[in-house]
Amino acid sequence: MSDVPALLPVEEARARILERCAPLPTEWVSGDEALGRALAEDVLARRTLPPWDNSAMDGYAVRAEDLRGPLPVRLAVGETVFAGRLPVRELTPGTCARIMTGAPLPQGADAVVMRERTRAIAGADTVEILEAVAPGNFIRPRGEDAREGDVLARRGTPLGIPELGLLWAQGVTSVPVPRRPRVAVLSTGDELCRADDPPEGRIVDTNAPALALAVRRAGGLPTMLGIARDTQEAVQEALARTDGFDVVLTSAGVSVGDHDFVKAALEALGVEQHFWRVAIKPGKPLVVGQRGPTLFFGLPGNPTSSLVTFELFVRPALRRLLGLEDVEPPRVSGRLEGRLTKHPGLAHFVRVTATWRAGELWAKPLGTQTSGVLRSASAATHLLHFPRESSSLTDGSHVELLPLSWVA
Ligand code: AMP
Ligand code: MG
Repeated sequence: MSDVPALLPVEEARARILERCAPLPTEWVSGDEALGRALAEDVLARRTLPPWDNSAMDGYAVRAEDLRGPLPVRLAVGETVFAGRLPVRELTPGTCARIMTGAPLPQGADAVVMRERTRAIAGADTVEILEAVAPGNFIRPRGEDAREGDVLARRGTPLGIPELGLLWAQGVTSVPVPRRPRVAVLSTGDELCRADDPPEGRIVDTNAPALALAVRRAGGLPTMLGIARDTQEAVQEALARTDGFDVVLTSAGVSVGDHDFVKAALEALGVEQHFWRVAIKPGKPLVVGQRGPTLFFGLPGNPTSSLVTFELFVRPALRRLLGLEDVEPPRVSGRLEGRLTKHPGLAHFVRVTATWRAGELWAKPLGTQTSGVLRSASAATHLLHFPRESSSLTDGSHVELLPLSWVA
């Protein structure tokens, strides 16, 4: 009998993680700091915007009914209204005003004729209007963007650039959002050293700095805990220093090797294991657990496996902690260039370079798919999802592609 549990399908593993993730407590931050998080409370409009009916074009503000007769119609030009000024004259029948884009509409005007449909009469304050327009033509109505007191943005709204622009337009410069997740990153392994150490037969720990960058790009605040040696005591001691972190990422030591102590250390610390081992390649040995509010991810040690599991599981969790509802990895459809075969049982996430050709995204698998070297992740733009039960994909197959967040 084996003590190795059955492999969990990727979707189920992600669902189990997300069940445990809720938006973190609220903090008030400036708009630029809020980018990429979701609003923690409804925000009401303080201002009606635009504050007045205004012109969507450079042209002439008119009374539409003056243009009913045979064209062209001659109108007397009363004034010129620029953006940033208020009109002073009311339009009376037979008169119009020159107006610039964004300038408030004069009283009495109900339409704008674009300048290209008019002919100025030299030396006279008169213009010939060459086309009739309906009331409302080229007018941006007052309150089209927001009305004072209305809900401007609901709680849960993901704050992208236009959303923050809408808030700024209201004079709202500080917004309530979940605070950023604090993420501890620990490497484990006797073979590891820092980049500035003499190698002496060791290899440089690349997982911790790579994961820290991935955390930052996903909106979290990484703290590096260094390298723990391959003993249960060392791993346990390092993990015991993770109080106050929302998420802890370890790398390596989660397989079935004799020196794989991460699971035992987690258990000894009282971390409740949610699952171990997922039906994917790379990344099969992933272990996930929780103690109090802290979520622990034991990521595999192979550099590419740790990045792929970050992408498939950690990033969605961090996004959920930031209040975002839509956290599944994004997917686009493409075609396979070449062919792929495997045994059923594991979903493969194949590193590909995808390029747009003849109206479709063509995905070419990178030459090396071993997960032990970073080379096999560099130049990848997407992960191609080769489903668990499938054993071959022929040239030109329609495939699901996950855009990678780690690209430059
Ligand atoms: P393990 O899961 O401990 O068996 O490690 C799997 C592979 O990943 C081994 O070849 C390790 O040397 C390598 N590895 C583990 N941790 C790191 C790290 N932090 N940086 C680079 N490579 C690593
Ligand atoms: Mg190891």
